[in-house]
Amino acid sequence: MSEATRPARHWLLAEKRAPLPPAGKDHLKLRKRVHLLCFLVFLALPFTNLMRVDIPRQRVFLGGAEILISEFSILFFATMFAMFVVAAMAIVYGRIYCSYACPQMIFSEWSVSVERWAANAAGRLLPRGGAGARKALGRGIFLAALAAASVVLAFIFTAYFVEPRDLLHRLLRFDLVTVGGLTGAVVTLLTFLDFTLLRQKFCTTICPYGYIQGFLQDRQSLLVEYRDPSAACIECNKCVRVCEMGIDIRKGPFQIECVHCGDCIDACEDVLRRVGHPGLISYSWGGGKAQDRGEPWYRRWGIRDAKRVAILAVMVAYLCALGVAIHGRKPVLMRLNSDRTTLFTRLPDGRIANRVRMNLASRLSRPVEVKVWVERLPGVQVGLDPNPLTLGPGQTLERTFDIIAPATWPGAQELNPIRVMIQSSDRNASDGADMMFIMPAGRN
Ligand code: SF4
Ligand code: SF4
Repeated sequence: MSEATRPARHWLLAEKRAPLPPAGKDHLKLRKRVHLLCFLVFLALPFTNLMRVDIPRQRVFLGGAEILISEFSILFFATMFAMFVVAAMAIVYGRIYCSYACPQMIFSEWSVSVERWAANAAGRLLPRGGAGARKALGRGIFLAALAAASVVLAFIFTAYFVEPRDLLHRLLRFDLVTVGGLTGAVVTLLTFLDFTLLRQKFCTTICPYGYIQGFLQDRQSLLVEYRDPSAACIECNKCVRVCEMGIDIRKGPFQIECVHCGDCIDACEDVLRRVGHPGLISYSWGGGKAQDRGEPWYRRWGIRDAKRVAILAVMVAYLCALGVAIHGRKPVLMRLNSDRTTLFTRLPDGRIANRVRMNLASRLSRPVEVKVWVERLPGVQVGLDPNPLTLGPGQTLERTFDIIAPATWPGAQELNPIRVMIQSSDRNASDGADMMFIMPAGRN
């Protein structure tokens, strides 16, 4: 009879025990390493411009590129790609994101650890004090540590939406007047309340991602499942005690609170391994163990049916479209309007001038030179000084200048179509805008 199919409790009482099964993967250790990595990424992202929304300047930073809010195609493809990543993660890997990478879970677990550490520290500081005094000191240390951490976390979080140096200045000035300063203060307070009162309760009550899971998951999604065909459970309840979400996985794998962290897998393996039995809880795909080495790699990675292949294909398509949109974007945007307060001006030397208003917006993170000239108008002069002009990183500029043409030329009409061109020193990229040059009637 195999290890797995021995009758109930018989294996536990046997005189000659089977050799201990190999230790399984330590999911908690793996999770803590991933938490540290995610925390470092969370800290670094706003300072690297890899992913940040600058609300005051109405810009989005994506992969180092500075994108204006008005650049619809790039933002559309980026949003669609992000939505498909979220959906694909939920369909294929269930709530693995919640337990391994979500900042809410990372800081909730961290705050629980800090609370334990504070209680121990209070015990060491007041070895002879009463239980009440130790408890009050432990609580005080915990709240002080959380208050300091909340300022740091709220700063990092707000830096995703307000430029970090600007935010630091507001923080140092205790700015509680401007929108940016007030937002930072409110986020700090919410962070403090979240990680002292809510923690993992947030995941099962407020977080919309947890609810979306219910719609997206199917029988092929990654689950944590309890299977005990040989009635080997010794009812130690360790799997329940370690569960931060407060559930009993033995009641079924489709409990919405389960974030698929794997802590109960470790707990059960740890208990049963001592008596020579494999754990009863495991990750599984649609009823089969997730670690099954006999399956091809793509099935082990969760690509198990046509629906998942289609989702991956759509994700790749949006990613490619995003790459093409970013690559094809113009480094400097130009908007041109004719200033029609006067249709034209006759200069003292007889030449004709039309006034235009030009808006330039740099999408680059470095200075760029922009040269302006006019096509389709013989003998034309651009009254812009200096030309080329220099735009700073991400700078927008409005300039009004004259386009000056000779008094007449062969083929001149009252309305003359012209094209105003700009060329930037970045990749010599050029852009143009069409407009009409107005000449006086009956000039001949
Ligand atoms: S049941 Fe297990 S996998 Fe699910 S949340 Fe609790 S400890 Fe984590
Ligand atoms: S840890 Fe394993 S043996 Fe203990 S109660 Fe849970 S499932 Fe049963």
